[in-house]
Amino acid sequence: ASRNYARSCLEALAAAQHTLHRLEPTLASLDSIAGDGDHGRGMVRGVDAAVTAAREAADAGAGAGSVLTAGGDAWADKAGGTSGVLWGAGLRAWGQRLGDEESPDDGAVAAGVASFADRISALGGAQPGDKTLVDALVPFVAELTAGVDRGVPLPQAWETAAAAAEAAASATAELRPLKGRARPLAEKSLGTPDPGAISLAAVFSAMGPAFAP
Ligand code: ADP
Ligand code: MG
Ligand code: MG
Repeated sequence: ASRNYARSCLEALAAAQHTLHRLEPTLASLDSIAGDGDHGRGMVRGVDAAVTAAREAADAGAGAGSVLTAGGDAWADKAGGTSGVLWGAGLRAWGQRLGDEESPDDGAVAAGVASFADRISALGGAQPGDKTLVDALVPFVAELTAGVDRGVPLPQAWETAAAAAEAAASATAELRPLKGRARPLAEKSLGTPDPGAISLAAVFSAMGPAFAP
């Protein structure tokens, strides 16, 4: 990560925005099977607000961490729903851990992602296997951290982590939901992947070129 990382953070959120607009109908239909159908709309509202706030912050000269926290606060404010609270708080924790350094090293980038995951786990209380976005997030962080620790170049470590998250998100189809709104509809949910895990894996895949150039 050798260029101005505040711009990278903004580009990562813009890539997430592009992906979430494209996936909105898919996420809506996944969430309508055992949920209330609003996951696509909620993620789009959240990321739109995040990009606007992050761009304002970056244009005003904010550093990388401040760009992410501004995005997170706007996301939490505007998205609504469980996923909005978690994404917003997670991005804030990510930004705080990353800090405003212009060129964070690979370890600092991985530590930021780990803080995102830790905050979401602490706030939502979900464990892997509960059929939530945590099922995609935990393998992402594990692969990214392991890769960076072994000295794998960041773009490659990110790509491996994103592939693990995508596979884990698809595999949630076989799980019964133990958290959130889908829990009472566990039987209906069987055979369908968790919408929050699918959106998380797609967003992290899309953010790779910006966060891990
Ligand atoms: P809501 O359920 O409030 O309508 P969304 O539809 O936007 O919110 O998001 C639903 C997603 O939130 C689920 O698919 C799941 O991935 C995630 N989720 C729900 N509860 C939790 C939790 N306690 N921890 C982590 N993720 C959760
Ligand atoms: Mg919902
Ligand atoms: Mg809802």
